[in-house]
This record gives sequence, C-alpha cells and structure tokens, in this order.
Amino acid sequence: LNGDSDHLSSSDREIEKALRPLSFDDFTGQFKIVENLKIFVAAAKRRQEPLDHVLLHGPPGLGKTTLSNIIANELEAGIKITSGPVLDKPSDLAGLLTNLEEGDVLFIDEIHRLNPIVEEYLYSAMEDFRIDIMLDSGPNARTVQISLSPFTLIGATTRSGLLTSPLRARFGINSRLEYYDAKLLTDIVTRSSGILKTPIDEVAAYEIARRSRGTPRIANMLLRRTRDFAEIKGNGKITLEIAKMALDALDVDENGLDEMDNRILLTIIEKFKGGPVGLSTIATACSEEAETIEEVYEPFLIQEGYLKRTSRGRMATELAYKHLKIKADFGGQT
Ligand code: ADP
Repeated sequence: LNGDSDHLSSSDREIEKALRPLSFDDFTGQFKIVENLKIFVAAAKRRQEPLDHVLLHGPPGLGKTTLSNIIANELEAGIKITSGPVLDKPSDLAGLLTNLEEGDVLFIDEIHRLNPIVEEYLYSAMEDFRIDIMLDSGPNARTVQISLSPFTLIGATTRSGLLTSPLRARFGINSRLEYYDAKLLTDIVTRSSGILKTPIDEVAAYEIARRSRGTPRIANMLLRRTRDFAEIKGNGKITLEIAKMALDALDVDENGLDEMDNRILLTIIEKFKGGPVGLSTIATACSEEAETIEEVYEPFLIQEGYLKRTSRGRMATELAYKHLKIKADFGGQT
C-alpha cells in the first residue's frame, strides 16, 4: 500500500496509465507549481528554446512522473524516460543523450541514485549541451567532444537532500510536490472512476480520498480495489458501505494509516517507550528498509502529527497514543 508502482500487476499498470492526466488542465492540485510551469513552458516555446532543467521532489505517488510527461506534451516535445540506478556507465547516459532531438525531455527518476561518475558527465551535458567521451585507454587515450541537441532534463527524487550541490545548482526550476488534501483527492477519485466507468457516490469518493495518505497513486489503487468489491459484493456501484467494507478489508484504518504506518508507531511505543529512537533501530524492529521508512512512511506520519523528529531520534506523539488507544503519561498534559 505504500504508493510504490513497482509491485503492480500488468492490468493494474494498464489502468494506472489510463488514469494518468495528459495536460496541465487535467492535473489536479499542486496549483502553484502548475501555474509556474505553464508560464515557463509558454515562454520557452515562444523563444523556441528548450525549457530550463526541472527538478521535482516529494514522496512517491504524488505525480512527479505524470507532471514530467505533461511538460513534454505541453512542449510538444519527445520524452525519454530512465532512472538513476539504471544509468550504470557513462556510455549508458551518452547513448541516451546523443539520441535526443532538439527540445526533447530526458526524465531521470530517482536522480539521487545516479552513479557519481555518470553524474559528472551530466554536468557538461546540462550546462553546455556537450559531453566529453574518453576513447581508448593508456597511451592512446584521448577525449572527443560530442555536441548534443539542446534538451531539458527533468529529474525526480524522493530525497532532494541527497542530491549533490553541483547537480542541484544546474536545475533552473526546482519544485517540491506536497501531499494532497481530501478535497483534491476526492476530485481525483471522481475523475478516475469516470474513466473506469464505475459509478460512485460522492461520500464514497470522499471516504476513499481521506484514507489515501494524501497520495493520488494510493487513491487510484484503493479505487480499483473498491471497484472489485462493488462488482462482487454489490451491484457495481461504489457506495459508502462498499467503500468502508473494502478499506477495512485492505487494512486501511479510519485515519487512513496503513498496516506499516501503524506498525511503526506501535513499535516505537511498545518496544522503545515512545522514543526517541533511531531510524535504523525502528527499521530493524519493523523488518522494513530504513530508506523506505524515511521516504515513504515518515513524511506522512510527521505531517499528520503522529511522529516527531528530534535530534535524538524519532518520537511518537500524543496523537499516536490516542490513535492506537494506548494510555500514555505526557507529564500531566492531556
Ligand atoms: P511519482 O512519479 O511522484 O511517484 P506518478 O506521477 O507516477 O507519481 O503518479 C502516480 C499515479 O497517480 C499516476 O498514475 C496518476 O494517475 C496519479 N496522479 C498523480 N498525480 C495526479 C494528479 N495531480 N491528478 C490526477 N492523477 C494524479
């Protein structure tokens, strides 16, 4: 349930594709970012120059890939999609870059996981639209300079803090995507159920929305699963009753926390007296990777007020105790 698209079945992947907005006007929320991007795209088009390089950061499932595709669409440009861990060698990058046409978009997901040697090559590509390739080695070694068609790099990352400063400095546009509120997610769920031709009551759309961890990808996934319940247990329409039944069956609790969210909070409270406790200790106790906890779970738990980050580690808040119905002594505060 963590908003990771790697674990989707092929039919889910098809549906996810169908639900993807294709233009700025189809894209819900993130208003400020979208308004700015519209202007930058229009200006670049008018000057017939490539758009400045764009860095998009924020938790998974908030629309970074979607926005990148939209930017390319709106620029009427092509897009090549890759990711940091895939670009193993400089030649992998060179192959992609030399195939770009003028004005194209190169999208690099998880750009914080680029191999440092590949990253070096990216600097001159981004800045001067050229790369220096080393031919041969030893006494015959020489470099040749290859010029590239001017292009736009869009980098996406869940961890902008892990980006090196030379890389970060080469992005002219830098936007942070925020979690979506329940109202916006209701619009997204309603739009998606329209595309899926599944009738849905407004209260049911809201119920799914408010229990989606502020994340469109999760909202769409919960909608698909709820649709299954509606077809098998109901008459095909998603009512509030069906939505509640499905969400309970999927272990999404009343406040929208999923099983891992609750496990993290419970671990901190029961095993570590509420904290403070270090991230890697929590990770081991929950059998989850520290990186995933930090990128996926923690930002939402902090935003919603269940978890606090202190210099000595993570602490469960009073709200976490209340949520889990565990009594706590908060020094007389109630
Ligand atoms: P990220 O790249 O940030 O992990 P994606 O762009 O892959 O997220 O978005 C995940 C899914 O959520 C997409 O398939 C898309 O359908 C949906 N989605 C994301 N943002 C929006 C939005 N603002 N409006 C409608 N659907 C969205």
